[in-house]
Amino acid sequence: MHEMGIAQQLVQIALDSIPKEIENPRVEKVNLKIGRLAAVVEHSLTFCFEIITKDTHLEGARLNIDFIAVMVHCKSCDNIWEVTGPAFKCPFCEDGDVEMLTGREIEITSLELAD
Ligand SMILES: [Zn+2]
Repeated sequence: MHEMGIAQQLVQIALDSIPKEIENPRVEKVNLKIGRLAAVVEHSLTFCFEIITKDTHLEGARLNIDFIAVMVHCKSCDNIWEVTGPAFKCPFCEDGDVEMLTGREIEITSLELAD
């Protein structure tokens, strides 16, 4: 389960990004974007997150995950399309010179603090 490592990194980043001048901050929601190719299982990540955040400012925070489609660009014909299967060949020109634009990211987009 690689979600534990991911959750640890996300929690560290989230804790670091809480402004120091806020006293007793309580985070209500953590907004994330996760690429579909990052192979993150949502309930596993939520489970790990809850364990790690116990007794931190993030305890009780909800994870709001926005899954990002896998978008691929063909360098040969300049088309961009969404990949839904394992095929990584350009469907337009049948070339294999493709680069992935999105789909692997694991990022915190914002934190929502309780008032
Ligand atoms: Zn192409």
